[in-house]
Amino acid sequence: MRRYLILILLAVFLASCSGASTSAPTADMNAINTQAFATVNASGTGTAVASLPTETPTPLPTPTYSGPPPELPPTLQAPGLAQGATPHTYISDSCEYLQAKWNPNNAAPGTIVMVVMFHSIEKGVESVSDPMHVGAGDFKRIMKNLHDFGFQAISANQLADFLDSNAKIPMRSVVLIQDDRHSAENYNDWFRPYWQEWGWPVINGWISWEDSIRNQVLPGNIALGAEGFVDFQSHGYVHNTPMTDASSDEYIRTEFERSKADLQQNFNKTPVAIIWPGGGFGVRPVAIAREFGYRLGFTVNPRGPIMYNWVPQADAATGTFDIAEGPVGDPRMTLPRFWPNQVIPNLDVARVISEQAAAYAAQNKPTELLYYDLVCAPTLGPLPAAVP
Ligand SMILES: [Zn+2]
Repeated sequence: MRRYLILILLAVFLASCSGASTSAPTADMNAINTQAFATVNASGTGTAVASLPTETPTPLPTPTYSGPPPELPPTLQAPGLAQGATPHTYISDSCEYLQAKWNPNNAAPGTIVMVVMFHSIEKGVESVSDPMHVGAGDFKRIMKNLHDFGFQAISANQLADFLDSNAKIPMRSVVLIQDDRHSAENYNDWFRPYWQEWGWPVINGWISWEDSIRNQVLPGNIALGAEGFVDFQSHGYVHNTPMTDASSDEYIRTEFERSKADLQQNFNKTPVAIIWPGGGFGVRPVAIAREFGYRLGFTVNPRGPIMYNWVPQADAATGTFDIAEGPVGDPRMTLPRFWPNQVIPNLDVARVISEQAAAYAAQNKPTELLYYDLVCAPTLGPLPAAVP
């Protein structure tokens, strides 16, 4: 009985293949072949062929396709982004993008990241009126809600690998960034419990300026850095004067050079992220950051959650203080951040965008794999196999 079933499945499988290769080309070839390709793929993942008792596994027959490559689908538009923000892509090579997207060892489509900015966390109060800061009660609620929604915190390096090459991270990830210099006590009081319980790291946007505050907090921070739960990244050297396109090259270079040297010397860490001091950035600051090896930049602009090759950006300033990221043309260096009071209201926004992205990717998978097979595979080779 089992063998009979296998034979039937095999017959269906072969029929679907030969159907694709013998049909005469028509105006609907795209659709037919896309369908056939999907069927072949689906068959290939079943057990029928693998269960044949006597045959050694043979490669799946490639469907013959004589038409032009299919058109790739447009970028997913999503609800819930900040007003004036639209998703921007940053990988210009379609084949590179498709290979990273459909490599089964990489992050699954729909993997999403919320980046959160913290300044002062105020002890002994539930809430504060200044949206830049957060009360102790609200801080704990934010962390609990993130966890309840299935988010897990990741480091700057994990985010950089995800954004660059779709490296695997938790399906719902959060990046926690504490700006400016704080004592070790700040990290022990607020972030250590989540590190101990859930393994959540926190990024420390570290200012390298030599003054009395630094002398006071440096030794405690060095001890934290050695432990691993605080991820030290650059927040400038002078910091108090933001970098803009009006800044001199010398000033911008010093901001990176001294910050990088400080982090390497004191925290044994080569930074990959610049947390733009005062929220200032521009074409030249971004280009010079790239020269120094930075792979991520964080603004103070809340635009929405981010995904692989999908970063919400504004093409024109939307408020008095914010700067448009679009014209800079390097989304990974001008990433959005949520302010504390925006996190809980945006958890469900992120969930919906993630689910839409996963569904949109599934819908487009046959077209994208056919495109990859026709256009990319001859130079890049087939998609990698899943590594257990
Ligand atoms: Zn700052």
